[in-house]
Amino acid sequence: MRSYSHTNPLKRSLFLFLFLFLSLLCPAQSQDKQTAPPFGIVIHGGAGTLLRSDLTPELEKAYTDKLNEALDAGYKVLENNGSSLDAVEAAIRVLEDSRLFNAGRGSVFAASGRNEMDAAIMDGKTLKAGAVAGVRTVKNPVTAARCVMEKSPHVLLVGEGADRFAKQCGCGIADSTYFYTDKRWKQLLKAREEEKLHPALTDSLGMLVPYPAADSDKKFGTVGAVALDKQGNLAAATSTGGMTNKMSGRVGDSPLIGAGTYANNLTCAISCTGHGEYFIRHVVAYDVSALMEYKGLSLEESGREVIMKKLLAVKGEGGLIGIDRMGNMTLPFNTPGMYRGFRSSTGKRGAFIFQ
Ligand code: ASP
Repeated sequence: MRSYSHTNPLKRSLFLFLFLFLSLLCPAQSQDKQTAPPFGIVIHGGAGTLLRSDLTPELEKAYTDKLNEALDAGYKVLENNGSSLDAVEAAIRVLEDSRLFNAGRGSVFAASGRNEMDAAIMDGKTLKAGAVAGVRTVKNPVTAARCVMEKSPHVLLVGEGADRFAKQCGCGIADSTYFYTDKRWKQLLKAREEEKLHPALTDSLGMLVPYPAADSDKKFGTVGAVALDKQGNLAAATSTGGMTNKMSGRVGDSPLIGAGTYANNLTCAISCTGHGEYFIRHVVAYDVSALMEYKGLSLEESGREVIMKKLLAVKGEGGLIGIDRMGNMTLPFNTPGMYRGFRSSTGKRGAFIFQ
C-alpha cells in the first residue's frame, strides 16, 4: 500500500510528460497532413462510341494498363516536386509511344494516306503555350509543342516548318513506317468506302462533316493530361492524330489554345477529346475556365455545363478532363465511353473506359 502510493506520483508525472510530448507532436503531424499541398494528375485516351463488345478482356486490360503506366509516369514527377508541365508531358509521351491510342505512334491516317499530328501544351502559371499542327515525322508531338513554347517566340507552328523546328530542337524523328499500324490503315479504307456511299454528310448546322458516318469506327482516341503540382501550378496538354480520313491540312481542336487545351492558375487546366470542329466552334476548354472565372461555377459544374448541355444540344460528341488549384478533378463525357484515369495525393486513383 505504501509503495503503491509512493510510485503513483512518479507514474503520473511520466504519463503527464508523455501526454504533453505526444500532444505537442500529434497536432503538428496532423496539421502537416492538412496543410500538405494537394497535387494530382488526370489523363484521357479519347472519347467515342466504345462498346464493351468491341473490346476483348485482354485488350481492355492492355488499355487500362497503359493508362496506369501514363498516370504513374506523371504522378512520379509530381511526387518528386516536379512541375505540372513536366508531369503532363511525361504522361502523354507514354501514350504517344503506344500503338493503342490515336497520338504519336498510333495516329490515324488522313485522307491523303499520311499521318498528320497535332499537339499543344499550356502553363497555367505564365499562360505560355506551345503547339504544333500537321506534323508528320515527330515521334512525340507533345515535346515538339513544348519546344515551340520554350524555344520559339511563337505559339503554333504548322506543317513542314513545325517538323523542321522539332528536329532542330532534338525531338525524336521517324519516317512513315514508324507510324503505320494495320488497324489504323483499315479504318481509313473503311472510311473511304463510307465516303463513297455517303458523299455529302452534313451536321446539325448543315456543315460538311469531314468524318465517317455514325455507324463507322468512331473511337477518337486522342490523348490528354492535366496536372496540379505541389507548388500550386496547373498545366494541360493534348496530342492527337486527328480524325480518320480528315482532309489533308485539317487542324482539329487539340492544338488550338482555348478550344482543346487550356490552363490558367486562376481557374483550371483542361484537355478535350471529341469531334474537333464542335470543340473549336464552342471554344470548349476556355469556356469551362470562363464559367469558373466569371460565373463562379465549380470545375465540375462548368465541365458538365459545357459537355452535357452546350455540346450535347448541338450533337457535339466528346468529353474533357479538368483539374483545379484545390486538386478537384472532373472527367465528363457525352459518349458511351472515354479512356480515362486519375491519381491524386489523397491516395485516390482509377483507370476506366466505359460509363
Ligand atoms: N479532338 C480531336 C480532333 O478533332 C479528335 C479526338 O479527340 O479524338 O482532332
